[in-house]
Amino acid sequence: MKLTYRGKRLTAEEKMDIEQLKHDMIKEQEYKCYVCHKPFMSMSEAQFSHIIPKYISYIKKWGYEVIHHRKNMHVCHPWCNSGVSLNYSSNQVEAQKLVDEILEDLKNT
Ligand SMILES: [Zn+2]
Repeated sequence: MKLTYRGKRLTAEEKMDIEQLKHDMIKEQEYKCYVCHKPFMSMSEAQFSHIIPKYISYIKKWGYEVIHHRKNMHVCHPWCNSGVSLNYSSNQVEAQKLVDEILEDLKNT
């Protein structure tokens, strides 16, 4: 799957891609929350959490493809969400490493 959208609203197809990605990732995580490792009781308990947060400034900087890349996301409970995100200003080196890795991935797809 290649997400090509940037700075526009998602089409129905792109939304379905994201839904599919969520299902795949939940399966990969063996139906458990990435943060607390407790199983999800329903799909509504499972939500994407971004390592580099989905802030407008970051989307502008790197594009939606990077921010919404599966390497930048885990699936967790809404209440566990804050356990995933990386504070970019205090972890710039780590964040840049992740961005570089994703950009490399995007080049190869
Ligand atoms: Zn959790």
